[in-house]
Amino acid sequence: MATRREFLTTGVGVAAALSSASGTAVATESNDATVGKGQPQNAELKDRRPGFRLHCLGCGYPPPSGSGNSTRHGSAFLLEVGTEFLLVDCGPATTYKLARMGLAVKRVERVFLTHHHFDHNVDLPCLALVRWDLCRGAEPPLKVYGPPPTRTFVEQLFGEKGAFFPDWNSRVTHPVSIRIFQKRGGVPPRPALAVKARDVEPGQIEKTDSWTATAARVHHVEPTLASLAYRFDTAQASIVFAGDCGDCPELRALAQGAETLVAPCVLVGSAKHPSYLDGIVMGTDEVGAIAKASGVRRVILTHNGGANSPGRKRPYLDAVREVFSGEVLFPDELTTIDLLDGPHREEKHRSSAVGREQTGAVK
Ligand SMILES: [Zn+2]
Repeated sequence: MATRREFLTTGVGVAAALSSASGTAVATESNDATVGKGQPQNAELKDRRPGFRLHCLGCGYPPPSGSGNSTRHGSAFLLEVGTEFLLVDCGPATTYKLARMGLAVKRVERVFLTHHHFDHNVDLPCLALVRWDLCRGAEPPLKVYGPPPTRTFVEQLFGEKGAFFPDWNSRVTHPVSIRIFQKRGGVPPRPALAVKARDVEPGQIEKTDSWTATAARVHHVEPTLASLAYRFDTAQASIVFAGDCGDCPELRALAQGAETLVAPCVLVGSAKHPSYLDGIVMGTDEVGAIAKASGVRRVILTHNGGANSPGRKRPYLDAVREVFSGEVLFPDELTTIDLLDGPHREEKHRSSAVGREQTGAVK
């Protein structure tokens, strides 16, 4: 059974429920497996069919890697379930990458942090403040889920003794900030920033009409940091985010029977070599073995700082495919995978008339 703890809410004046779909831009409808690498998409949400899509925002390491249009930095994925945006991790420049993909930050109402390494959480202040600053005051507060110390982390960012209190307090009280708020349609007094945070324990952590979220404790760098993997089940399909971890029974159990597994993959071969990485991260041997054992249909490789070209991805893809017969993808950042579509074969993207930049080149 999950041990559930109440959300800690920073700030005051928790807002009323969101009244309408006020987001202005989301990725466009596409029959392709992917849409618009780095291209602003301006379709209104109401014009899109409800979907189950994965927007790949951060697929890299702690330091940025690559150059030009092929860069990776940190971890972040936006799961689009129907009309909802669920963000899994909030690594470097997540807010900027959402904008690059034409995904409205205001529509992100829930963030699921896998652990508190900075490559997975450092953009949370930016995301929360940008979202709040764009709102008119009637939108629901951002909800943040994560392993302990998520509540403390959020309080130290946004609480009255927090690092960003002077910022948002100024925006609530300064006449110019209030004027800008009114121009957006807000009615003073401007509500304080409110972010609801919850320390999550293993088990079912959330259930709505359209999805269920389940967490599992996975093995990474405990006891200094706790790490979670998340599974989202919908009526249509299910997806598991391993976060950052080594091969462990908890992840295997969580992934059992899921459609898609998003797995960190930092090297070709086994994380047992070098042995100091054993149980901390995964290589292609571990990812392939877990994908095969859990019966997933698709595995998505991520958390890799070197795979910035098709040639560099190839050894990873080949190695996982030696073990696992399902679909293996190694997406670039700023690409979208339609999780109800597939298989997403390389040939489909190579032969695409619009080319790599527009298909996103999931490989
Ligand atoms: Zn980590």
